[in-house]
Amino acid sequence: MNTMRQVVVTSSEDIRVVEVPRPAPPGAGQVLVASRLVGICGTDVHAAAGHHPFIDRPYRPGHEVVGVVEQVGDGVTDLAAGDRVVLEPNLTCGECRQCRDGRYNICRKLAVFGCQTPGGMGDVFVVARDRLHRIPDGMSDELAALVEPLATPVHAVRRAGVRAGSRVAVLGAGPIGLLVLVAAKRGAEVVVVTDVLPEKLDRARRLGADEALRADAPDLVERAAAVLKGADVVFDCVAAAGSMAQAVELVDKGGTVMVVGIAPGPTSIPLHLVQDREISVIGSLMYVREDVEQAIALLSSGAVAADELVTAVYPLDRAAEAFAASADPQQVKVLVSVGDPA
Ligand SMILES: [Zn+2]
Ligand SMILES: [Zn+2]
Repeated sequence: MNTMRQVVVTSSEDIRVVEVPRPAPPGAGQVLVASRLVGICGTDVHAAAGHHPFIDRPYRPGHEVVGVVEQVGDGVTDLAAGDRVVLEPNLTCGECRQCRDGRYNICRKLAVFGCQTPGGMGDVFVVARDRLHRIPDGMSDELAALVEPLATPVHAVRRAGVRAGSRVAVLGAGPIGLLVLVAAKRGAEVVVVTDVLPEKLDRARRLGADEALRADAPDLVERAAAVLKGADVVFDCVAAAGSMAQAVELVDKGGTVMVVGIAPGPTSIPLHLVQDREISVIGSLMYVREDVEQAIALLSSGAVAADELVTAVYPLDRAAEAFAASADPQQVKVLVSVGDPA
C-alpha cells in the first residue's frame, strides 16, 4: 500500500481521517515508526478551536506518540525493527545560544513535531533517530503514552528547584497539574492541590496529594496555608489572573511561582508583593532529553497507575470523537489507538 491514514484538523467541528502518500523510506539517521497510541493534549484542543497562537489550521496532530520501529535508515545502529519507542517532538536548530547551552527546549527556532509539522496521528511517520526514546519492555503502551505529558512537569519541577523536604502547591488538577503532582511527590514533603471540580480533587488525592482543596473556596488561602506553612514553590497550571494572585499569596517569602499553564494573553501579577516578598516568578516550556529519561524512569518505578490518568481510548477512525472527549474537563488523558488498518 502506498497510502496511509492521517488525521487532519481544520476546526473543532472538522476533524477527519484522510488518505495520504506513505512517506519515503527513512534516510540516513532517520527512522520509520508505526504509531500505536497517540495522546491528545490541551495544546491540540486549543489548536483545533483556533486559539493556539503558534499552530495554523489545518494541521496534522500527534506529538505524544508511542510507536514501533518499522525500518531504520543508514547509520542507525542502536534501534531496530520491532523496538518500542516514544517521540520527543521538539525540533531544534542545534546552533543558537540556547541549543549550545543544552536548553534546546527554548531553541530560538523551535518547532514541534505534530504542531508546526505533520504529526504522528496516522499509520506511520519518519523522524530523526535522536527524537526517539526506547521504552522498557515491561512498560505498557498506555503508561508509555504518559512519558511525553510527564516530561513537561518533570522539567518544571527540576527548574523550580523542588527538593527533598520542599513544600509545594499545585493550582489546577487537569492533566498537567496532576502530572506536576506526580513529579513533585518524588522529593516534596507536602503537596497541596487545588481545583474547582471535586472529581479532580478526588483524583489528586488518589495520586498522592496530601491535601486537595476547592480553588473557589473563600478561605482557600488560609486553609492551604495551614497545611503548607509557607510554600517553597507554587505551580500555576491555570495561568489566569485569579490563580496568579492565589499563587503569590500562597508562596512563602523568597519562594518561587512557576508558571506551567498557558495563559491566554497578558495576565496581571501582584507585582508589589513579588517585590516586597522577594518572590521569583518563572516559566517553563517543554523539556530536554534528561527530563524525558526521568519521566520514563518515574513511570517505570510504578509511581502511577496508567488507568488513573488515561481515561479514554478511541480508534484512529474515531479521532473526531476523541478530540471532543478531550475537551471534557472530566477526562484526563484521551488517547487515539492506531491499529492495523486491515
Ligand atoms: Zn502535549
Ligand atoms: Zn536552537
